Amino acid sequence: MVRYSDELIDEIRSRNDIVDVISQYVVLKRSGRNFFGLCPFHKEKSPSFCVSADKQIFHCFGCGVGGNVIHFVSKVENLNFKETIEMLADRSGIELPVINSEGDDKIAMLKSKIYEINQITAEFYHNNLYNSAIAKPAQDYVKKEN
Ligand code: ZN
Repeated sequence: MVRYSDELIDEIRSRNDIVDVISQYVVLKRSGRNFFGLCPFHKEKSPSFCVSADKQIFHCFGCGVGGNVIHFVSKVENLNFKETIEMLADRSGIELPVINSEGDDKIAMLKSKIYEINQITAEFYHNNLYNSAIAKPAQDYVKKEN
């Protein structure tokens, strides 16, 4: 199961303006606060496909499809969720973390935690070594070894 964080998905959504993205597939005309065009998901002669820049969603009054930029790309490109996220991340220059499975995800978390602990430990000992009040024996030891 592939899982990207909600924050990452939010960022991908906010970096891919829905009007920009849909404009690559549909000729959009501004009408007030919204944009209209011919729906790419059903045959029509007068535009009933509406895109809201404010709400960052699309909706077709003809066939009823709608959603956000992720739904649109997934549907128009016939991609699954993971592929859609990858495409939009690539489009907006966002680097995705490598997630192969939930197991790997847990290992990655553990690794970063161990790394953090090592850093804190190293800092702790480093600070102690230069704290003259308690570090005299340690300093003597280090000097002797050198
Ligand atoms: Zn439609």
